[in-house]
Amino acid sequence: TQVNINQLLELTLKRLKPIAEKKNVEVVLESFRPVTAEIDEVKMTLAVSNLVENAIKYNNEGGWVHASLNADHKFFYIKVADSGIGIPKEDQDHIFERFYRVDKSHSREIGGTGLGLAIARNAVILHRGSIKVYSNPGEGTTFTVRVPMIYVSAQAAAV
Ligand code: ATP
Ligand code: MG
Repeated sequence: TQVNINQLLELTLKRLKPIAEKKNVEVVLESFRPVTAEIDEVKMTLAVSNLVENAIKYNNEGGWVHASLNADHKFFYIKVADSGIGIPKEDQDHIFERFYRVDKSHSREIGGTGLGLAIARNAVILHRGSIKVYSNPGEGTTFTVRVPMIYVSAQAAAV
């Protein structure tokens, strides 16, 4: 079904606002245009929620999270950038694996199961999309997601 992606992002950020406020993290959404796309709304919401939740969770007191939505005729693009602790280069290839957590005392004490990004990646792959991470430890992290405007389930296509 056709889903309003701007609204999906707005609702997700609104839902996570309380945990951001607890850490005094500013969450901003920038939508460059109205986007509707044929997606699995539940799975895509789960993917975006996990990215934004991480961006708040691995942030510093007083930091920021910047989410943005863009689109062209073939794809829509979601970017979630944060001013948080960052991810060491050697871990960046592994963070999408189930149960993988960066072995730093700082992220250890935050707590989690290491499933969020595996879930996010699965949802994006199911939509034949792609997800990438860019990060500098101590500066912050940016995740970018690219999803086709028309949903052809990767599973169905593989049959
Ligand atoms: P869960 O999401 O299951 O509660 P989790 O947050 O530890 O637990 P993932 O969301 O899969 O698991 O993330 C894997 C690891 O990647 C995290 O433990 C953390 O070390 C690192 N990570 C993920 N997102 C960020 C981010 N925005 N900034 C810094 N580190 C991150
Ligand atoms: Mg997580």
